[in-house]
Amino acid sequence: MTSTDALPGSFAAFGLHPDVLRALAEQGYATPTPIQDQAIPMVLAGRDLMGAAQTGTGKTAGFALPIIQLLLPQASASMSPARHPVRALILTPTRELADQVAASVASYAVHTPLRTTVVFGGVDMAPQTAALRAGVEILIATPGRLLDHVQQKTLNLGQTQILVLDEADRMLDMGFLPDLQRIINLLPKQRQNLMFSATFSNEIRKLAQTFMRDPLSIEVARRNATAENVSQVVYEVASEHKRAAVAHIIRARGLKQVIVFSNTKIGTSRLARELQREGIKADAIHGDKTQKDRMIALEGFKNGAIEVLVATDVAARGLDIVELPCVINYDLPHSPEDYVHRIGRTGRAGASGDAISLMSHEEERYVADIEKLIKTKIERLTLEDFHPGDRPRRAARGEGGRESGRDSGRDRDAGRDFGREREARHERAAAPARAAPAPVDDFFLKPYVSSPPAPAGSDAPAARPTSSGLGISKAPRPVAALLGGAKKS
Ligand code: AMP
Repeated sequence: MTSTDALPGSFAAFGLHPDVLRALAEQGYATPTPIQDQAIPMVLAGRDLMGAAQTGTGKTAGFALPIIQLLLPQASASMSPARHPVRALILTPTRELADQVAASVASYAVHTPLRTTVVFGGVDMAPQTAALRAGVEILIATPGRLLDHVQQKTLNLGQTQILVLDEADRMLDMGFLPDLQRIINLLPKQRQNLMFSATFSNEIRKLAQTFMRDPLSIEVARRNATAENVSQVVYEVASEHKRAAVAHIIRARGLKQVIVFSNTKIGTSRLARELQREGIKADAIHGDKTQKDRMIALEGFKNGAIEVLVATDVAARGLDIVELPCVINYDLPHSPEDYVHRIGRTGRAGASGDAISLMSHEEERYVADIEKLIKTKIERLTLEDFHPGDRPRRAARGEGGRESGRDSGRDRDAGRDFGREREARHERAAAPARAAPAPVDDFFLKPYVSSPPAPAGSDAPAARPTSSGLGISKAPRPVAALLGGAKKS
């Protein structure tokens, strides 16, 4: 290493181990992001930390790098499971986020003897049990499945020195508070606590008071600020013409990578299906899809096989998709904060992005709430060359219809993932009730049927062991341009 490597503004300046620096160089990380600049020294100093930061800011490395550094003196090359107790526990609200965090942590620790693994619901427990029994220092988990492993006595948290709650606000939204409290009670009293959250509500602060020790606070992005380089527009479209309008926008703009947000699981599936019927490469992700289905959709979206991903807020949360040119709000979110999260998916790092919202007459109040929150008036325009009356009317039945007969939305996590139920209730409650003109596709006549659970021993990514003991291997991606790194070619 040369002396210039340790210049201020470099990762070496934090005193990170050469094996960690090597991994960062391989990832193409040249300079720390603002949250890394602030968080790394504080975590290295052993302090508790509350970080206000969203996915996309580099927060994962902000906590993972100092954790690896802190655990390195205890790292062991021994094969004995007893030499690899869980020393750091990272909790995330969703399977996707757990998987992404685990892939990142594994890539940073790849040249060290530290072991990482991820456990989440919806997939076979056996491979996770085997990885836990073999011993792992850094465990990434969703709360429900973690407690399942505790109950089965495949996991002992008695030597956990560091706890991370990632996306704490979302964990509370999803009803994980009782699980979190149970997990915290299983940990040694003497430990370091880190909590990351996009927002810091009173509820979050109350939770922090119960388990954190004199935490330092850091914030990298202004709360509820919308990206300045995102152009926001609202089109007034009647509810029954929204599906046609989405197809029209995608075609007219030649969109090749767009997330369309729907408020309900059933609306998500129906819209994806309708777009497919229009010849658009679309797929849906929501909480009732199996982990395997979600991974397939996400991979398809990343590699271009799928151009339009229709998603609920919960399913989209934590997706590691950067530099999206456009997002479309098929439904206006009922919570204005969700609007900020949605449009935060586009226009990052100087790239310009479009956030398009379709507003029916009944949704005007949601737009008003959003404008109040972001303190900006969103331009209202008419969709050019869109004449829905000229087209055969398709499937205009309201999303709220026929929901009662469908699957409850329960997660297949042996009934343990309470948050999923909450998610299903939330998404159902968000379904607007509308009049129901006659549909033309009998898909729209059928009650919603959730995907079957992943079969035991399925080849779902999480079930595949890898050398790191991690479920999913992550293809190398270009340096995130959103963080000011190298531009994508
Ligand atoms: P996160 O907010 O942790 O989900 O990170 C967002 C993306 O930025 C991920 O794809 C990371 O691999 C990437 N990233 C994190 N830190 C850096 C860095 N210092 N330089 C370049 N890319 C980074």
